[in-house]
Amino acid sequence: MEKLDKIFKALEFSANRHKYQTRKGIGKIPYINHPIQVAKTLVDFGEDDTDLIASALLHDVVEDTTQGEKQIKDLSELILQMFGENILLTVLEVTDNKTLPVEERKRLQVQLTPKLSDRAKKLKIADKICNILDIVNDPPEGWSEDRKIAYIDWAKRVVEGARGLNHDLDNYFDEVYHQSLQKLE
Ligand code: ZN
Repeated sequence: MEKLDKIFKALEFSANRHKYQTRKGIGKIPYINHPIQVAKTLVDFGEDDTDLIASALLHDVVEDTTQGEKQIKDLSELILQMFGENILLTVLEVTDNKTLPVEERKRLQVQLTPKLSDRAKKLKIADKICNILDIVNDPPEGWSEDRKIAYIDWAKRVVEGARGLNHDLDNYFDEVYHQSLQKLE
């Protein structure tokens, strides 16, 4: 498949899957802005692997647009057919198990990130950068400063296990981390 063709197919597929969703922030921004921002962050820092960029566009479709085992299985099959094994595996690597309690999922992200593939690690860093920026610029309703700071600190612990593949991306995470804490404290 041609590079741009695959990227736009992923973008269209993701936009359709997320079409009724908005981000958690008070701005009610369409959900698709988030995967676009994650993909763009990777491109901005020199990543040009089509499967990585397409995976970034699709990274939340399994976690956020399915309910239950059967839907996860069906959607995985569809992603495999449409986009191939690399992209399916990367998307599944960054998909939390929603049957687990939130705190357990958070603990597992810290524990499992060092074992992820290179693609999934870069995606994780870009995802956490975008989530931190959203929390600072368009915070979810009712989040206290402490809760925001706790999220940012947890994100840093996850990113610790993903660093070392793209130094500019690592440095950008650090910059966003420090600036965000400065704004909040
Ligand atoms: Zn995400």
